[in-house]
Amino acid sequence: MYAVVHHPDYVAPGAPGSTYQWNKNGLVRQLLVESGDAIDWHAPEPMPRAWLEAVHCPDYVAEVLSAQVPRAKERRIGFAVTPLVARRAQAVPGGTYRAARIALEQGFAANSAGGSHHALYETGAGYCVFNDLAIAAVRLAAEGVAPVLIVDCDVHQGDGTAALTAGRPEIVTYSIHAEKNFPARKARSSLDVPLPDGVGDEDYLATLTATLVPLVEAVRPALILYQAGVDPFHGDRLGRLALSQAGLDARDAFVADLALARRVPLASTLGGGYGADAMEVAARHVRSVRTLGAAFAKSRLYLPG
Ligand SMILES: [Zn+2]
Repeated sequence: MYAVVHHPDYVAPGAPGSTYQWNKNGLVRQLLVESGDAIDWHAPEPMPRAWLEAVHCPDYVAEVLSAQVPRAKERRIGFAVTPLVARRAQAVPGGTYRAARIALEQGFAANSAGGSHHALYETGAGYCVFNDLAIAAVRLAAEGVAPVLIVDCDVHQGDGTAALTAGRPEIVTYSIHAEKNFPARKARSSLDVPLPDGVGDEDYLATLTATLVPLVEAVRPALILYQAGVDPFHGDRLGRLALSQAGLDARDAFVADLALARRVPLASTLGGGYGADAMEVAARHVRSVRTLGAAFAKSRLYLPG
């Protein structure tokens, strides 16, 4: 048994002509239901506006919530912000926060969306509207959960998360990513691990281990927020790395075991994953959630508190 946070608002039909796969979160839920795993489903509250404004420019928050985002920002985001997209943008950070709160009680929970790590102070970017990771971390830290360690294994750098949490010692950011990939201009995470194109399973896992283990030991986080993007996969449309499915499985199992061994609660978000076949991409995210969930479900080591 493990907990997954999902909300119907995650599935927002995009504007006509949008190439973004809007049904991904719905497919993830469907495949999780069909997997037969024992899942404890939770629905989040939308993130209160004040917490969105604790991270993003209030003018930008107002633009999104009223679905009046200027065209230039919509182009940077990659899709139009309709009223339904705006609802989704408020639901997803609520889900990441809820998953974190459940993880603090039970050890683990997954959000079936989120990982919107490119969203910046006054604009979204790269398919991200609001930065759920930064918003959840800032709220949790304000509520006494600190330090929060954001572990970002998406193939793209977590530039927005790094920029939005800079100068907050209670939030630590880690990003392992393809150096030549989007975004062209990187931000500075607490620890960045840039990788050359074409890195495969063995080198990836060795580098992840060599960099993340000492960081977790130094930071001793009260919580890990995990951006579990599946776009380091070799067949991903927007990735530049060469991980196999077994390599992604090993990555997720490693992150789970690292948290378990140190009794650190972990909440996961989907992150990126791109391809022509929506079902195949959703299946890859589901495999990630199930790998994490299975590690925590089978462990008897974890005792909250
Ligand atoms: Zn990505």
